[in-house]
Amino acid sequence: MQQPMPPYPNHDPHHPPRRRLTRAEMRRRRRRRAIRRLAVLLGALALVAGGVSFAVTRLQADVPSASAASPAPVEGTGAVSSGVRNGTGAAGGTSTAAGTAESTAPAQPQNALGLTAAEAAAMLADPRMVLVNHQVPMPEDYTFDTKECGSATAINKTLQTEAADAFLEMQAAAAADGITVWMQSGYRSVEYQTTLYNNKTQQFLNQGYDEAAAREMAANIVNPPRYSEHNCGLAADLNCPEFTALEPGFEDTAAFDWLCQHAGDYGFILRYPKGEAAEAVTEITYEPWHWRYVGPENAARINASGLIFEQYIAELQSIAAAV
Ligand SMILES: [Zn+2]
Repeated sequence: MQQPMPPYPNHDPHHPPRRRLTRAEMRRRRRRRAIRRLAVLLGALALVAGGVSFAVTRLQADVPSASAASPAPVEGTGAVSSGVRNGTGAAGGTSTAAGTAESTAPAQPQNALGLTAAEAAAMLADPRMVLVNHQVPMPEDYTFDTKECGSATAINKTLQTEAADAFLEMQAAAAADGITVWMQSGYRSVEYQTTLYNNKTQQFLNQGYDEAAAREMAANIVNPPRYSEHNCGLAADLNCPEFTALEPGFEDTAAFDWLCQHAGDYGFILRYPKGEAAEAVTEITYEPWHWRYVGPENAARINASGLIFEQYIAELQSIAAAV
């Protein structure tokens, strides 16, 4: 069997040349985002107004029957929340479950996610839902066990045990469909991340940049320790025999298609989706290879919402805070 070429011989072996947006790009995108937010806010206001008038109509309709227990299906809630989903529609890519609203329970709370404050708080407390990005470091006390699930050429072959088991199950299911999926890079220890980051910083120091500049430039290429999602053992860079690089071209493979359809069932979401709106939220350019384990129930909810992970967490926080 032919050994696949290691991706990116000139870069850190398992760190693809992720491109963080430049300052000018970020500024431009922030401006556009502000405009978009205003539009979303106006849309949300319209939805709330619609919801209130719906509730009023419904209350009035219910008054004559005056039955205490009226478990009539609440179509209104579903309609409102799916309207919000379509309205945001920020995520490209994986939201395959979108539209399959699960709101069958009566008395659904009136928010975009259809969750109670307690449910939102429980999701936030779920260690599989930890948010790690270049602004939010992994908590100091975040600990876990790991298990191997990487391909033969992978350098970082492990994930958190539950995520590794889920990946192996997903890999077997893909294989049954004639699709090979490999994990190329999983958990990176904080120590390892420190080495990567310090090496990159040293390269810039050697080129004559001062410490601060060198650190900032390094951070654009390698996340500082605890600021990489790979540090929490829930991020998996996936590839396949037909496309061993960790590059956007992975999206043209049958493996990527399969993942878009099925990864959610195994608890994985596409973490850095395609498109300007998504990239403005993650501040990371599209990475079709980078999948994040959150657990099947959470993945179903996130995919159904059409929100990016950062947005979903923010939404949970506001629902959990509203008592
Ligand atoms: Zn990755």
